[in-house]
Amino acid sequence: MKSDPAKRIYDVQQFGEFGGVNPSITDSSTYTFLEGETMEETFQGHMEGCFLYSRHWNPSNKYLADALAAMEKTESAWVTSSGMAAITCSLLQLCHSGDHIVTSVTTYGGTYAFLKNWLPKYNIEVSFVDITNLEQVKNAIKFNTKVIYTETVTNPLLQVSDIPELAKIAHEAGAKLMVDNTFTPMIFSPAELGADFVVYSMTKFINGKNDCVAGAICGSKEFINQLSNVNDGTAMLLGPVLDPLRSSGILKNIHTLHLRMKQHSSNALYVALELEKTGLSLKYPGLQSHPQHELHTRLMNSQFGYGGILAIDFGTEKNANQIMYKMQQENVGYLAVSLGYFRTLFSCSGHSTSSEIPPEVQHEMGLSDGLVRLSIGLDNNIEEVVEKIKRCIN
Ligand code: PLP
Repeated sequence: MKSDPAKRIYDVQQFGEFGGVNPSITDSSTYTFLEGETMEETFQGHMEGCFLYSRHWNPSNKYLADALAAMEKTESAWVTSSGMAAITCSLLQLCHSGDHIVTSVTTYGGTYAFLKNWLPKYNIEVSFVDITNLEQVKNAIKFNTKVIYTETVTNPLLQVSDIPELAKIAHEAGAKLMVDNTFTPMIFSPAELGADFVVYSMTKFINGKNDCVAGAICGSKEFINQLSNVNDGTAMLLGPVLDPLRSSGILKNIHTLHLRMKQHSSNALYVALELEKTGLSLKYPGLQSHPQHELHTRLMNSQFGYGGILAIDFGTEKNANQIMYKMQQENVGYLAVSLGYFRTLFSCSGHSTSSEIPPEVQHEMGLSDGLVRLSIGLDNNIEEVVEKIKRCIN
């Protein structure tokens, strides 16, 4: 076992008012001060532990952020109202007009659209690379590169990023490595592997219930302070604050994340092994046939498995749609976007969560028209589920 994020969360002791076993939920947008002087000092960032206004910091979000920082072994963390807010606020904090970003071409479609369509409007240049080709990454670096951006296991192609090597390339160039670990919380500890910042869509595995949208940024205390700076912090000024009621729910769910990840992983591995036997074209990092299986094995926190996401190529969109229709009829799970839910979810990536990526780029990066991404649930009857999937395919 390399690292134990579950133990680090367990070690975080947080009590509620009156000794409650869960931290109390903050039901206030603003906070009183005894004196005007203390208020001014808090505005200037000199009063650690004081709360002034809930868009800036609030106690419920601080409890969740502290648990996330412990999980990721970073000095600090910040929670946001969506995963996209975590990604966009972090990148905009780090990059100014005239800067350059190198990114994996396979990323979540919303991230791709932000990098491709939005940042160039503000004169931030972005180079898209095959993140598994380290020579290509090195060659893309320029004098003004500020960030290398990747997903630990990319959406939806499930390529595995070599975080230690990417960190080396970034640091040699005076840049930072930012990693989206949404698919693999617990399984990977990117900051321990060398990443400077770890971002999450907590909408997915971390919360695990698909009842809210939320995000997180984990990094140095200095960076989190920059994000929340009242004068030029993106998190403070763009205002994507997470509602305290939601953050208190996510904090409770994070304490079962280790168990859920193990179950998602063992179910997904079983599905992948069984379906591979039928000759289907399948991507899953736990399979020996996966091109980065060895890399994943070397970098992962082994007790949590290879994750809950797998992708099956059904050739054409028409074929994929027919099979997904049958799988929902058979109650294998739901035909829905998103992932990390307790039930299995499936969607045809090129026509949903990656549809922002133009068809010719999808084709170039190997995203087939009929690729279906499955987020395998916590099912206790996975053998039965596999039999159902086989019936839907035939
Ligand atoms: N990162 C990844 C890998 C995702 O899959 C998603 C959403 O699907 C996001 C980020 C965006 O997160 P959110 O929908 O919480 O804004």
